[in-house]
Amino acid sequence: MEELKNKDALTDVKSMNLEELTEYVKTLGEKAFRAKQMYQWMHVKHVDSFDEMTNLSASFREKLKAECRLISLKKEEVQISKLDGTRKYLFVLEDGNVIESVLMKYKHGNSVCISSQVGCRMGCRFCASTLDGLVRGLRPAEMIDQIYQIGKDIGERISNVVVMGTGEPMDNFDNLLRFIELLTDENGLNISQRNLTVSTCGIVPKMKELADKKLQITLALSLHASNQQKRLELMPVANKYEIHDVVDACKYYFEKTGRRVTFEYSLVGGVNDTDEDVNELVQLLKGMNCHLNLIPVNPIKERDFVQPDTRIITGFKNKLEKSGMNVTVRREMGRDIDGACGQLRKKFMDTTNDAM
Ligand code: SAH
Repeated sequence: MEELKNKDALTDVKSMNLEELTEYVKTLGEKAFRAKQMYQWMHVKHVDSFDEMTNLSASFREKLKAECRLISLKKEEVQISKLDGTRKYLFVLEDGNVIESVLMKYKHGNSVCISSQVGCRMGCRFCASTLDGLVRGLRPAEMIDQIYQIGKDIGERISNVVVMGTGEPMDNFDNLLRFIELLTDENGLNISQRNLTVSTCGIVPKMKELADKKLQITLALSLHASNQQKRLELMPVANKYEIHDVVDACKYYFEKTGRRVTFEYSLVGGVNDTDEDVNELVQLLKGMNCHLNLIPVNPIKERDFVQPDTRIITGFKNKLEKSGMNVTVRREMGRDIDGACGQLRKKFMDTTNDAM
């Protein structure tokens, strides 16, 4: 415990932007260009310790070791799909918490799905990540290091990032913004904003705040229902933000950024997969320049939600298409490894807790 307390008292240099780091380095009595060197070690070369920063003087490195922490995630487990090469990673944080990230290999490049929080407090009924509630939000460095560690592990460039793992990014807003700044910085990994997607369950004020930043990132909205009543049954957050207000926030995002919003819709057998749902969806999203992504629900053992039959899924998609909607069914990746978001972490925690 003592050790943990000490860690939090140390300066998290990897979550700083170059400007902040420069100011900080000056307070340690070093020249400004040292910040640039450190930034390169952290965000281009992705080293895991101050000792590896070999162009800094030994005495400066000692000072850094005494005053700062260099956040670096430890790979606990990797599952590799034999079907499509998808990799699920379990990382351990410095305080012992574990998080999950996924690498998906596509023809157009490598995409990483990262977690934004340890656990989640949103309570969506079908989601494994929220079953044990929220522990804490991730620091910017903890978000970005998921990408760095995976890049190092596969020895290839990561071209796309989706914030769709465990956690609600809008519930960790300031750290999310800093993460985006670091990820898209030309002095770092330099990933284009257009290659980043942030998914939210629909925290309206934060969606608007993000829109006002006028970034070029893609916003994905977890809709999952065609009307307020059904959404309430699946997503407690609907108690706070009504479905039309959430859709309006998406329209606002498009107005401010010109970026087409993606709606995610988990298809649950017998719950939201009827013709009536098709009609209501078409009405709800009428006139919007958007994309609808249908995701056959990934069953979790704690709930009895099931995927609709393939025939129903195809029918649902075709009817939406006929109504002029832009719609795709998400291809399932890594079917043979612990499927749905949060299931690998949950399994790990359940087994380690049993053992104690
Ligand atoms: N909190 C954010 C991001 C994390 S969840 C959000 O709600 O968007 C990423 C996506 O996976 C969301 O659309 C979420 O609703 C969906 N999801 C979670 N569990 C799922 C499951 N068991 N089957 C299908 N989709 C699921």
